[in-house]
Amino acid sequence: DVRVRFCPSPTGNPHVGLVRTALFNWAFARHHGGTFVFRIEDTDAARDSEESYGQLLDSMRWLGLTWDEGPAAFDGASGAEVGPHAPYRQSRRTEIYADVARRLEEAGHAYRCYCTAEELEERREAARAAGRPSGYDGKCRTLTGEQLAAYRSEERPSIVRFRMPEEPITFTDLVRGELTFAPENVPDYGIVRANGAPLYTLVNPVDDALMEITHVLRGEDLLSSTPRQIALYRALAEVGVGSGTVPEFGHLPYVMGEGNKKLSKRDPQASLNLYRERGFLPEGLLNYLALLGWSIAEDRDVFSLEEMVAAFEIGNVNANPARFDLKKCEAINATHIRELDTKDFVARCEPWLTAPHAPWRPEDFDRAAFEALAPLAQTRLTVLSDITANVDFLFLPEPVWDETSWNKAMKPGADALLRTARAKLAEAAWNAEALKEAVLAAGEEHGLKLGKAQAPVRVAVTGRTVGLPLFESLEVLGRERTLARVDAALA
Ligand code: GLU
Repeated sequence: DVRVRFCPSPTGNPHVGLVRTALFNWAFARHHGGTFVFRIEDTDAARDSEESYGQLLDSMRWLGLTWDEGPAAFDGASGAEVGPHAPYRQSRRTEIYADVARRLEEAGHAYRCYCTAEELEERREAARAAGRPSGYDGKCRTLTGEQLAAYRSEERPSIVRFRMPEEPITFTDLVRGELTFAPENVPDYGIVRANGAPLYTLVNPVDDALMEITHVLRGEDLLSSTPRQIALYRALAEVGVGSGTVPEFGHLPYVMGEGNKKLSKRDPQASLNLYRERGFLPEGLLNYLALLGWSIAEDRDVFSLEEMVAAFEIGNVNANPARFDLKKCEAINATHIRELDTKDFVARCEPWLTAPHAPWRPEDFDRAAFEALAPLAQTRLTVLSDITANVDFLFLPEPVWDETSWNKAMKPGADALLRTARAKLAEAAWNAEALKEAVLAAGEEHGLKLGKAQAPVRVAVTGRTVGLPLFESLEVLGRERTLARVDAALA
């Protein structure tokens, strides 16, 4: 049975790198009919926040990345933990970790380390100067009873440090193939702070063991902790924690941002909220993020989540760094918007058409008018928030006069053309076809082709030189408002 986990720390806003990790784990679980565990790694009280925790749940729900076990139900029906390994928030598992640390210490897999920060720094410097590996040198591994007693009587603080085995650690990464870490590159490491607080280095593998995780898929930045975790896993099996099988590991490639630098979580372009606020569809964003290290087929960029689940193989993830390309992300999103059925499109636009996003008064919103133009708008949007500028002429009492547009369209002669067009529009039957004929005829009288003739009409009525197809727009706007706006432009 495949069991994977997504285990973010609730610090700051969720970012796209985190979402990519969640997505790959989710797709892997769903592909194999496995279990997707959502765990919260909140053991760093100084950095973790409830607000960030709330955002993580909300983001996963918005994305539609359903989880099977976690700190609350996916559907929000209950705030209670779901799953046999609850609690799924590490801040509520402190006693478990204290017990495991004690067992590791008793079995000799971990030991008390009394080195102070200053002593460690001094020896690190010396090692560097001598060209030796600068990790922990193992000083407290072999303290004599006398030294121990002396430290204790001084009441020197101590941390718990894990004793790494002296052989190399080899494992087959699901993305990168076989990797070997020499012992001199993986020194003993701290697992419990002097104040008794357990560290990520302990709690992450302990929970993976207890929660029977079979596959760990995570970012390449965590690759260096994998040999430590494998060693810890083996020790856990010896002290009877977990089932004893070491999970398989797959490290997802780095995501590069501007200037070919690693996309950092502080990069504004990395913030998930930004994509939500701009009106990306979750399926559009996830489709793009899937491409950061994976592809469904050569020459194919657009697919649904169902298609991704059906095709997803971790062995097909590429180890090379992936480049985050906002333009491509937008283009893929636009395609997903076009592919929505119109009813769905209308529903998804709704938040942008109503307060607080919409610039018009709520009572001026006219659903029927919007629905009439929705199919025309649907093909033009990159993100849903674009909808406002496309239809604001329908709901604002007056169009937004865009100065550049005005200057461009209202050249000398535009007045005369507008007067003729006004007269012909006033007589026309009020449908797109007839309105087009009216403006065409007005243009002919002034020696202007349709394109040139409709520009001043468009700016008079919608305020801008670009927008939805004009005659359909006029049809929906209605005779009275159209003529009043042309009059206002002429005044
Ligand atoms: N809480 C860790 C992080 O957010 C999880 C790392 C892991 O997947 O093992 O970086």
